[in-house]
Amino acid sequence: METTVVLLKPDCIEKNLSGEVIKRFEALGLRIRGCKMLSATDALLKEHYSHLADKPFFPEIVSFMQSTPIIALALEGANSIVTVRDNLGPTDSAAAPKGTIRGDFGTDKMRNIAHASDSPEAATAEVARFFQDSELF
Ligand code: ADP
Repeated sequence: METTVVLLKPDCIEKNLSGEVIKRFEALGLRIRGCKMLSATDALLKEHYSHLADKPFFPEIVSFMQSTPIIALALEGANSIVTVRDNLGPTDSAAAPKGTIRGDFGTDKMRNIAHASDSPEAATAEVARFFQDSELF
């Protein structure tokens, strides 16, 4: 069993799609271990998107991710990391196939509905980044 982290981004929240996205993950047999709404701070985003910190669009990502609260989910299941990434689709929503979450609901490279951990190492770090032990069930 693996636990992966999904962040429902501001475009997901603004489009009232949180339930739809969670429904898709539950339909895949994934179990919600943790769920919380939060405002992403500058420090949190700098850590979470450290691999993009020197990109020219980084300030735009910060501003987008702070435009509404976000919802963090910890989802458990067999191969949950790959399963969630496959069902989310590629980063660029415009290039994401129909049937994927980004392909069906995303707008572009930045407004792509949700984040998901991309490796076991990232998942471990992100579970600890977004959840206290007492917030996981
Ligand atoms: P992913 O979210 O698919 O793992 P990355 O880790 O490469 O993709 O990027 C993190 C997030 O930064 C993306 O989901 C997206 O919101 C934003 N982003 C990535 N590339 C761009 C870009 N070229 N222009 C604007 N925003 C981007």
